[in-house]
Amino acid sequence: MSETTLTIFRCRACGEALFPARYRCPRCGAADWRDEDAPSGVTEESTVVRHRVGALGAGDIHLATVRTDAGAVVIARLDAPASGPVRAGEPVLLTIDNAKRVLARPR
Ligand SMILES: [Zn+2]
Repeated sequence: MSETTLTIFRCRACGEALFPARYRCPRCGAADWRDEDAPSGVTEESTVVRHRVGALGAGDIHLATVRTDAGAVVIARLDAPASGPVRAGEPVLLTIDNAKRVLARPR
């Protein structure tokens, strides 16, 4: 599965950064965006999804809220951490796969 660097969207009018894209900026109402690479960030929270309807035996999914260094906050799927859950404040690298899932790995 191919992965590329995560790209976030920055408002050209006010500088607000967000992901995923929206039509209008929630801060200033402009609809003028530029793409910006967001290859890294810091986890703010993480959680484990253990039981999902219709996905028996699929295994746990580790999710993290990550504040990218570009400023936008994204929800990322963590590479199954062998060393236990990722803690708040842990630096991660961010990519996006061809299913449009954001992936985080410890830096
Ligand atoms: Zn704006």
